[in-house]
Amino acid sequence: MNTIELDECYEWWNFRPDNVLQVCEKIKEYEAYFTDMSLNKNGLLKNYIASPLEHPLDELLLYNPSSCFKVCVNDLTDYGYAGCVNKQNRILAIDNLSANKKEVILHEMIHAHEILLEEKSILLRDALLLELYNKLKPIYPTLDQIIKHHANFYRYKQTVADNGEHDILFLLKSLELDDVLKVKPGTVFGYDMDISTI
Ligand SMILES: [Zn+2]
Repeated sequence: MNTIELDECYEWWNFRPDNVLQVCEKIKEYEAYFTDMSLNKNGLLKNYIASPLEHPLDELLLYNPSSCFKVCVNDLTDYGYAGCVNKQNRILAIDNLSANKKEVILHEMIHAHEILLEEKSILLRDALLLELYNKLKPIYPTLDQIIKHHANFYRYKQTVADNGEHDILFLLKSLELDDVLKVKPGTVFGYDMDISTI
């Protein structure tokens, strides 16, 4: 990040409008749901990041979306999204009408965390995929069918064209959050996902 970008960031951070501040506060609060993706030493990946070194986590430290992404609250109706994440420009945007919707903010947080985790380590990303699968298998009896339905090559190609990338890790993390929040499966995933028919 160069000086100009730093200045812009500083200005944005200090002059965030109230609606953006509120979403930033919610992102900070919801970080408690992401101890796995943020490589918390007590999270789901604790055995993968355990080390005999004195300060093993320093190089693994992941920043969370509230400090790594510029949060915006805009009118996104033209795009047809309730929210979106721009990887290149590090923007997490929420539509005005969805700024109070927990499931929308969590959905975009999964995108942001996936970006950060993939940049840190593909190995740990794969490990998380396995751990989430094992955690969810007893909770969702039809998990294998749900994954195969979602990840069918041709079907997925069409859903990417319509809704953007939502890979298997995204699917599993969204189902985990549905279970934690005790909401209908598919709520955090969105796009009218209905797993009851799978
Ligand atoms: Zn999405």
